[in-house]
Amino acid sequence: MNNTESKKKVIVVGGGIAGLSAGIYALKAGFEAEIYEKNPVAGGECMGWNRQGYHIDNCIHWLTGTDSKTKLWEVWKTCGAIDENTEYANTSKFYSSRLGDKEVSLWNDLEKTQKELIEAAPEDEKEIRKFIQHVEYAKSCVIPSDKPMDMMGVKDYIEMGKDMADMPKVMKEYGKINCAQLTDRFQSPVMKKLMTDYLPADYTAYSLIVSYATMASGNGNIPLKGSLAMTLRIVKRFKEMGGVLHTNTPTKRVIIEGKKATGIELEDGTIVKADDVITAVDTRFLYGRLIDEKYMPKDLRKAYADSKAYPVTSGFQTAFAIDSDFSGEDTIFFECDPIKIGDRTFTRMSVKSYAYDKSFAPEGKTVLQANVVQTDADYLYWESLSKDEYKAKKDELSAEITKRIVKEFPELEGRITLLDCWTPLTYNRYCNAYHGSYMGFVTTVGNKQMRFKGVVKGVNNLFIAGQWVMSPGGLPIAVVSGKFAVQRILKRDRRSIEI
Ligand SMILES: Cc1cc2nc3c(=O)[nH]c(=O)nc-3n(C[C@H](O)[C@H](O)[C@H](O)COP(=O)(O)OP(=O)(O)OC[C@H]3O[C@@H](n4cnc5c(N)ncnc54)[C@H](O)[C@@H]3O)c2cc1C
Repeated sequence: MNNTESKKKVIVVGGGIAGLSAGIYALKAGFEAEIYEKNPVAGGECMGWNRQGYHIDNCIHWLTGTDSKTKLWEVWKTCGAIDENTEYANTSKFYSSRLGDKEVSLWNDLEKTQKELIEAAPEDEKEIRKFIQHVEYAKSCVIPSDKPMDMMGVKDYIEMGKDMADMPKVMKEYGKINCAQLTDRFQSPVMKKLMTDYLPADYTAYSLIVSYATMASGNGNIPLKGSLAMTLRIVKRFKEMGGVLHTNTPTKRVIIEGKKATGIELEDGTIVKADDVITAVDTRFLYGRLIDEKYMPKDLRKAYADSKAYPVTSGFQTAFAIDSDFSGEDTIFFECDPIKIGDRTFTRMSVKSYAYDKSFAPEGKTVLQANVVQTDADYLYWESLSKDEYKAKKDELSAEITKRIVKEFPELEGRITLLDCWTPLTYNRYCNAYHGSYMGFVTTVGNKQMRFKGVVKGVNNLFIAGQWVMSPGGLPIAVVSGKFAVQRILKRDRRSIEI
């Protein structure tokens, strides 16, 4: 690298995990890096907040890449998120499903799970064994973290193929059906629930298998102290490396002159010049707000126009203070009296106990969160409400949900206090998240998995990071996309992409 290159300035718009990663890798590559984030705290959806002496952790249910033998772990480590000394929550299962007097669980221990599931549903033994066997195969699934796939050569593909040798079996058996269709393979009603409780029914079945395999293989642990603490560690790393983070500083647009992005204009009118710009915001917000919609790739345009084939998921969530040590119920789904939100009625919901992290609540007390999964249509319902209607609906639902939790767990009577509730709109307001989405597009059967190069056609110094560049999104895609954006700059400059 020569001196001129080292003085180049990279501006990153958006300080979520993707933006922070882009900033860190830009510094690592020898650039100056500044991140512009609209919120008072960086982190975007990898967030947590305090209420009445309790901490509400609102992201990491599992962090893919906690196995130090994986390349993704190296990326997290470079970003300061985790290292050899990181302590993880001592959780033992993915989740449980209850139906009537039956309860089944997906334990991290696959043998234990298989034994229990067969005991609970002997009529499904063959299908249970097949399911568990394929979870075992799916433990080999890795997220490419070295370089963008379009920069991979034959040797890289051969190596990836070797690493993921068993994944074709998973795709063959579960790649062409969704979770709803997976339930047809089981006779036991509680097994059917287990297959559709966690991921929405239109998710491909292999997504469930891979998610469970990540937990079961020890590559999806939860760092203690949660999401916000992890974000703050990444921010610290960025600043220690010399990066500049501007919070409370929303960007209005990326300035494009001819074929060049010359910088950004902030909401207050300030112009900031840059040599290269990386955007790390939601792509629905990017195209049409930060840059002209004409730059949107065709596939992405198609996806936004067809929310049936390319749905997203969000949630109506509530957090409670529990006046007891409510452990043992990590995540559990159960039947509930019907709850109506807009046109849709729900008869199942879940609670998750955060008893596994003592730092979230005063001694002897626990945080419990409940979630009702929300879709694109639900988002539009929330959006259609007036301010007063919105508040009234939130209050009404929170009270209804509290009642249902107490009905399912009578021991909580008189011991449960609402701390906060939030909707898909909250994620849009806070992060500009499309339809309040947690992740990228849901991978449904038959839809083309969304993946696009993080470049802007016709503008050779504007790059895109963020979870939307590759389905299904999530933290691992966000963190590698930041690295990949910097590698695209290096490749354009004919420098080594090894960073
Ligand atoms: C409830 C919940 C649970 C989740 N659980 C998990 C999990 O267990 N495991 C997992 O892997 N993933 C999980 N995710 C997903 C994960 O949080 C996201 O995939 C990831 O945080 C996305 O990162 P990002 O940087 O791509 O986007 P974002 O987090 O959306 O970051 C974008 C950033 O850009 C900022 N921004 C937007 N507009 C502007 C502007 N005009 N100017 C300046 N800044 C702007 C936003 O404020 C935000 O900080 C969960 C998400 C949610 C909501």
